[in-house]
Amino acid sequence: MTNEWNTRTALVHGGTARSQWGEVSEAIFLTQGFVYDSAEAAQARFIETGPDEYIYARYGNPTTAMFEKRIAMIEGAEDAFATASGMAAVSGALTSMLKAGDHVVAARALFGSCLYVLSEVLTRYGVEVTFVDGTDLDQWQTAIRPDTAAVFFETIANPTLEVVDIEAVAKLAHAHGATVIVDNVFATPVFSRAINQGADVVIYSATKHIDGQGRALGGVILGTREFIRGTVEPYMKHTGGSMSPFTAWVMLKGLETIDLRVRAQAATALALTDALQDHPKVKRAIYPGHPSHSQHDLTTRLMDKGGTVVALDLGGQAEAFRFLNALKIVLISNNLGDTKSIITHPATTTHQRLPDEQKATLGITPGLVRLSLGIEDEGDLIADIRQALDAV
Ligand SMILES: *Cc1c(COP(=O)(O)O)cnc(C)c1O
Repeated sequence: MTNEWNTRTALVHGGTARSQWGEVSEAIFLTQGFVYDSAEAAQARFIETGPDEYIYARYGNPTTAMFEKRIAMIEGAEDAFATASGMAAVSGALTSMLKAGDHVVAARALFGSCLYVLSEVLTRYGVEVTFVDGTDLDQWQTAIRPDTAAVFFETIANPTLEVVDIEAVAKLAHAHGATVIVDNVFATPVFSRAINQGADVVIYSATKHIDGQGRALGGVILGTREFIRGTVEPYMKHTGGSMSPFTAWVMLKGLETIDLRVRAQAATALALTDALQDHPKVKRAIYPGHPSHSQHDLTTRLMDKGGTVVALDLGGQAEAFRFLNALKIVLISNNLGDTKSIITHPATTTHQRLPDEQKATLGITPGLVRLSLGIEDEGDLIADIRQALDAV
């Protein structure tokens, strides 16, 4: 590894460990175990596992290690632990570091499963959780206490695309020694500077932009070497949420092209938002990277671009459904960050289970649709969206 590489080079070459065959493409070590030369060598490895030494794939594997090194390099983190899914990363990062009696402050606008882990699981084990409006620094300041062990938020919230000021929240949290854990999916590893801005722990669902082609579930936890190897690894390797070597290979291949894909997706998101600003059928076109977004300056300061997702408010559920059903290229599904453009109606799918008043608080209105831009031709996509809006 070398720190002289720029991101695009690190995404292609970072972490690569070649076998004696000198393969160009990263090898998949589809092996659960490793052979020792002697009983003494086995004993020694269980006492202390050295670099490039492995015991069992749940603990680590050469292909998985390549993925961890590559993503850590581009995120600017000391180390990373690859997990079986994004939720294994979220629950693993939180559960590995928290204990009964600890206090956590979390933004209220969260991916449904993250909300479940914080409000249903952690509280069952005696962790107290306070929810705040992530965009309101006064609420963070009031909620964070001397006994607050961690703060947790999505840097851009799903699906309303509100942006949390990482630097400001980190300052408030660090004043009380709390660990700052961010779910950075919508910012993407391409635009993220979260570690530099004060995040202690960064989490990705690799299922989204890192794979980017809708093939595999995966996740990753990034942080200091002490946190990853001392806190996260012992918990993950014994509780079973590790990434499979095959998935790690898919994710390594995803990282090779992520910069090209995500920049193209963000450019289309911006062009589309621009094209829909004054469209009579669109009440609001929300994209944090567009100058019309109330947090555009904050977005530009924190992550340069606004990600790859646009939210549209079309008025009501009937209008939203008519729009979805008229689309010809954009697929109705619920992944995001895929090469294929995908549209979701959060109120009736991903966020269906939230009580109506909570949906209203979070801005998940019946007319809101979440559009994840793919890498199709920008003109074709905008034309497809325009013809579907005509049908509304
Ligand atoms: C998808 C997603 C997750 C969960 O990731 P999985 O890989 O599906 O487990 C967590 N947080 C956010 C913001 C997501 O978009």
